[in-house]
Amino acid sequence: MSIAGNVGLTDLPRICPLISRRVQPSVDAEETRVVVVGEVQFGGVRPVVIAGPCAVESLEQTLAVARAVKAAGAEMLRGGAFKPRTSPHDFQGLGLQGLRILAEARRETGLPIVTEVMDPRLVETVSEYADMLQIGSRNMQNYPLLIEAGKSGKPVLLKRGMAASLCEWLGAAEYIAKEGNLDIVLCERGLKAFPAGEYSRNVLDLSVIPAVKGETFLPVIVDPSHATGVASMVESASCAAIASGSHGLIIEVACIDEGAARPKCDAAQAISPETLSNIVRFIDTHIERTAMRKAHAV
Ligand code: PEP
Ligand code: MN
Repeated sequence: MSIAGNVGLTDLPRICPLISRRVQPSVDAEETRVVVVGEVQFGGVRPVVIAGPCAVESLEQTLAVARAVKAAGAEMLRGGAFKPRTSPHDFQGLGLQGLRILAEARRETGLPIVTEVMDPRLVETVSEYADMLQIGSRNMQNYPLLIEAGKSGKPVLLKRGMAASLCEWLGAAEYIAKEGNLDIVLCERGLKAFPAGEYSRNVLDLSVIPAVKGETFLPVIVDPSHATGVASMVESASCAAIASGSHGLIIEVACIDEGAARPKCDAAQAISPETLSNIVRFIDTHIERTAMRKAHAV
């Protein structure tokens, strides 16, 4: 399964021996490490759907979205309490209050929480509330942050840098692994490559999924929301990601039709809970078909 020998990948066993399939002979060629978050399993039979708002804006908004995504079949809740924004004048998230709101949403729905941490000094605090730490695209190579996330012992969702090579991405994961934490889930979220920005926010690199699987046993998921930036593109990008072997999806959802305010962050890419249900149904069908194909093969 390895694509060893490809230009640029030959250095991987040296860069990231702890997570390299080629260096860890104990891990079977086809096997993925199962990363457990509460009752959720990344890398198991069923792709995991994480959904929720881009940012935690209020208790009401977060609870409404959390209930809706749970009803649509999501297994985990996302939502940023600390938001990386291009302008320092834009909404930066509710911080600690946002973390408390997420904890309340988990208490009510039972959904485990993934939320972003941007500052190494805040890893301890965010870890008190979150079930999984998200390291965002902009911070993929923030090495002190990766080290703190590794030390926290929490499962980590490591997004790919928006212009990062596979070597750089897996090298970042190795920093977490070096602290003794192998509970890492990789997340492809689109690249700033031509023609990003023309008709979609980024360019979704689906070929990286089999490439990741060839080089590491860590599970890999896809974020179709930031990859496309356009709500009408999210369903097809999600289905394509699942068909490409993604171990899950992380999707931004808003309940705008219920009279709620337009999201302060990334409103253009937020899908409705109904569209999320369609994606979950696609996954159900995909799993059934895969099981049938396997049964016919034996
Ligand atoms: C996010 O998921 O909220 C986010 C900011 O994503 P990214 O780091 O991929 O831009
Ligand atoms: Mn967002």
